Amino acid sequence: MVMFNKKYLWIVAMVVAICGIVTVNTCCSGDDDAAVSATEDSSQFVTLTDAVPDAILEIRYFGTYNFVGKRIDGYLQPTALLTKRAADSLRAVSDDLKPHGYRLKIYDAYRPQMGVDHFVRWAADIPDTLMKQYFYPDLDKSVLFDQEYIMAKSGHTRGSTVDLTLFDMATEKELDMGGTFDWFGPESHPDFCGNPETLEYTGDNSKSPRGRSITSVQFYNRMVLRQAMLRHGFKALDSEWWHFTLKDEPFPDTYFTFPVKQLGK
Ligand SMILES: [Zn+2]
Repeated sequence: MVMFNKKYLWIVAMVVAICGIVTVNTCCSGDDDAAVSATEDSSQFVTLTDAVPDAILEIRYFGTYNFVGKRIDGYLQPTALLTKRAADSLRAVSDDLKPHGYRLKIYDAYRPQMGVDHFVRWAADIPDTLMKQYFYPDLDKSVLFDQEYIMAKSGHTRGSTVDLTLFDMATEKELDMGGTFDWFGPESHPDFCGNPETLEYTGDNSKSPRGRSITSVQFYNRMVLRQAMLRHGFKALDSEWWHFTLKDEPFPDTYFTFPVKQLGK
């Protein structure tokens, strides 16, 4: 049994007050299971398009075409920020894919905690189903917390996570991934209808509650993105084909709170 006396607790309170560090326990699994501290310091971040000038931005949370249907708190400008290390790795992905006719299309990168808090508030407001038909038609909104579609902490706030797809310069369109970014459902899992380890398309759509499916081409398109990201130091998430985190992320225990806008302005 561990006993704390009042003096010990007082010392802890003083350390927290002096250092300005807020320590919280995260509530969820996935890549968000570490104790973390918060900071407003953006000095280790870069503007994504400065590091990856070939990238195309479509910052969904700055606009209203997202699962909430409104601009998300903390997105003050339609730009994307990343830690320098993550941005450098993303540049390598872009350089790898560009000769094949693809460009990276970025939906989100660094996400301030106030944006995550906005998602949590929205998820608790069950009657607000403004965008249900486009992003979660098969789900009752009340399960979003239980099934971890919405969590109180996100890897994005650590600054080395990016949501993206591929843009095909030949067709002038996004590559067909068989589903939209931020679709809430098993159809977004990288192993939907195939095996992302062996790259084999199986067509197994048994996890889809409505019997939805993706074609072999759509599955392989997801794999082109995934393989390129894995080749350059990112790890995938098992629930979202568009979400990747730098394996060697520089701030694994820190979440950031500054808003998304041009750095230094
Ligand atoms: Zn993401």
